[in-house]
Amino acid sequence: MKILRAGTLIDGTGAPPVRDAAVVINNGRIEAVTTAGPSTGGPPDAEVIDASRFTVLPGLIDCHDHLAFHGYELVRRWGLDEPPSTRHLRTARVASQVLASGYTAVRDAGGLDAGFRLAIQEGLIPGPRLVLSLQIISPIGGIGDRVSPSGHGSPFAHDPSLPPSVADGIEGVRTTVRTMVRAGADVIKCATTGGASSRAGHGPKDRAFTLDEMRALVDEAHALGRRVMCHAVGGPGLRVAIEAGVDSIEHGYYLDEDPDLIPMMAERSVFFVPTLTVYEYHRDSTAPHVRERARALRAHHLDSVSRALAAGVKVVAGTDAGGHGHPNNALELEHLVAAGMTPMHALQAATSLAAACLGLEQEIGTIEKGKWADLVVVEGDPLRDIRVLQDARRIKRVIKGSRVATPSTASRPSARRSSSRRTSRARASSAGRSNSSTRTPAPIPRRRCARRRSSSRRTASNSSRGRSSPPRRWPSPPSAPSGR
Ligand SMILES: [Zn+2]
Repeated sequence: MKILRAGTLIDGTGAPPVRDAAVVINNGRIEAVTTAGPSTGGPPDAEVIDASRFTVLPGLIDCHDHLAFHGYELVRRWGLDEPPSTRHLRTARVASQVLASGYTAVRDAGGLDAGFRLAIQEGLIPGPRLVLSLQIISPIGGIGDRVSPSGHGSPFAHDPSLPPSVADGIEGVRTTVRTMVRAGADVIKCATTGGASSRAGHGPKDRAFTLDEMRALVDEAHALGRRVMCHAVGGPGLRVAIEAGVDSIEHGYYLDEDPDLIPMMAERSVFFVPTLTVYEYHRDSTAPHVRERARALRAHHLDSVSRALAAGVKVVAGTDAGGHGHPNNALELEHLVAAGMTPMHALQAATSLAAACLGLEQEIGTIEKGKWADLVVVEGDPLRDIRVLQDARRIKRVIKGSRVATPSTASRPSARRSSSRRTSRARASSAGRSNSSTRTPAPIPRRRCARRRSSSRRTASNSSRGRSSPPRRWPSPPSAPSGR
C-alpha cells in the first residue's frame, strides 16, 4: 500500500483543487482519497510518498498520437533509412519519454502495432497505457494509401502486425475493419478527407469514402465493440463522417464552414480532437503545399474550436505528435487554453474528458476511488500557468497503477528533435529552464507511516461523466509464457 500526500490535489473532474489531500493506493488502484492532511492514517508499513510541496493530477491522456512515427519524410515514413529493430527501439524510447512527461495513456492513431501494448503490459519497456488503431483505413488515394509522388508503392511487403489499410466499397471496408480487429486494434481509425500533409491533389476538403462506405465501416466497428476515430478535416467528407456516426472527429479544421455540423456533434456526443499542435508543425513544413494548407486553415481551426466549445461539444486533447511533439505532448494544453479553454477545462480535456473519449472513464482520467492510480506530481500550479506541465524539471513523479517512475531530464530527447518546431510562446516558456536542463530533479522524500492515526476521510464521489456506453477495462497482463 502507498499513501501519496498531495499539497494540492486536482482530481480531474473539474472540481476545485483541494489542499492537503492524500491518495491511498492499493494494488495499483485508488482505494481512497482523503482530506485529512498530515493526520491521514494507513497501515504502519504503508509507503508514504511526500508530495506535500507539489500538485497532484490524474495522469495525462493524449487522444491522438503516433508513437511510432519519427518524421514526415518519405524515407522515414516508410522505414527505409534504418533497420526495423532500430526503429522499434526508437519507438520504445519515445514511449518511455512520453510516460515520463506525465502521459499515462495514449490513443495511437496509426503506426503502432499490438506488440508494443504487450511489451508495456509485461513490463518489458516503460510506456503509457495504449489504445491502438494499428493503421488508418482509407480508400485508394486516401491518406492511408502509401504511394510515392512518383506513383511507386512502398518496397516492403506489409507487416502482418500492421495490416493493409486501403479499402474500397462496402465489403472492402467491412473486411478491413475485421482484419484490424484480428490484428489487435482497440479502436478503428479511418479518414474521410485528405489533410494538411497528404499528397498534393488530396487536400483537406477532398472527400475519401462515400456515405455508404462509412456507414458500413462504422456499423462493422461498433458490431465488434470498437469505436471509430475519423480523420476528417473539411468539405463533404467531414459531413460524411458525422452523418455516418463516427465517435470522434480528428482535426475538424473546417467545422465552422457547415453550420449543421457542430450542432450534430453536440447532439450525438461526438468528441472533437482538434490536434492544434500539429498545425503549428505543418505551418513551417518544407513542402510548399503543406505549408500553404496549414496556413490557410488556421483561422477556421480556431473558429471551429471556439464554436464547438460554445455548443457544448466535448473537445479533448490530442497532439497528432509523431516526428514532432514528443515528449512535449502537454503543449496541446497550452494551445487549448489559447483557443479559449480555461486551464481547468484544458486539464479535463486531457484527463476525464479524454478518458471518456477512449471509453475508459470508469478506469482512468480522475483521481477517484476504484480507478487506476495514474497520477502526476508536478511542481507549480497548472491552473495559474498550464505551461508548467511542459517543464521536465517540474514533473517530479509519474505513477501508472503499481508502477512508479521518477522522471529524469536525462531521459528527455535531444533538443534537435523536440524544440525546433515549437511555438514562440512555448519557446519563451522553456527559455528560462534551458540553463539548468541537465540538472537532476530533486527526489521526493519517502518514508514509512510512523503510526496509525484516525482520519476524517473524504471518499471522492465516484461520479461518471461522459458517455454512457460500457467502458472497456484494461486487460490483465498476460501470465508467464507457458513454455512453448
Ligand atoms: Zn494523426
